[in-house]
Amino acid sequence: MAARSYSYTSPSIVIRVRPFGETSQVLHLATPEHGMVAALAKGAHRPGPAFHGGVALASAGTAHLLRRPRAEMELLRRFVPSEDLRGLRDGLPRFYAACYVLELLRAWMRPALPNPSLFRAALTALRAMARARDDSLASWVAWFEARALAATGHRPRLDACAVCDGPLEGRVYFSPAAGGLTHARCAPPGPRLAMDADGAHALDRFYTARLKELAADPPGTDAVAGARAVHDVFVPYVLERRPAALTGLPGRRVTPR
Ligand SMILES: [Zn+2]
Repeated sequence: MAARSYSYTSPSIVIRVRPFGETSQVLHLATPEHGMVAALAKGAHRPGPAFHGGVALASAGTAHLLRRPRAEMELLRRFVPSEDLRGLRDGLPRFYAACYVLELLRAWMRPALPNPSLFRAALTALRAMARARDDSLASWVAWFEARALAATGHRPRLDACAVCDGPLEGRVYFSPAAGGLTHARCAPPGPRLAMDADGAHALDRFYTARLKELAADPPGTDAVAGARAVHDVFVPYVLERRPAALTGLPGRRVTPR
């Protein structure tokens, strides 16, 4: 097939912004069907209908792109915001939570590799966080982590012991090395977290609860053990080490009130 330029549009979340020259921007966009896209927005900082003076980090909208076969980057011709996410800039806890979502997107979105589930989870989390109370941000962070991990192929076994298949009751361990919940006697060495039945239920809810149900009854302090299993144990295990930018994010302080 002859390499030709072509235009397309895509739902996008802006996951990185760098100034380029006097008036332009280089953007990294998370998209559902094209993975991560690097694009040059020429003259983005000039006033005008295409970019309204510059595209902001954590914006979500429709990107109008031109793919150029021999160019390093695509060309962003226009970005039309479709979501009101201004709430993410109301206060540091929301902003940190949003930055963390973007950080994980940068880690898990790959160029040209579609991942609509990961995109959808991020958009849902950003929408929720833009309106969330500060004390539910950590739970939304953990919800996003759980869904993002599942979207990248890391879905833990929670319905029975991941090692021996036996039924679970009472005190259990969450062990990423085993791939889910285990009996205490079955848990392999390595990072793990002891949980009671409520914690295990909260963890399961991150994976199974419908969004409407979560919005009506957001995970609260009862979800702390579930949030810790995802945020403190599972994500670091998958990432191997926590990106530096993740220190100081609200999810690190999930403590009962
Ligand atoms: Zn077992």
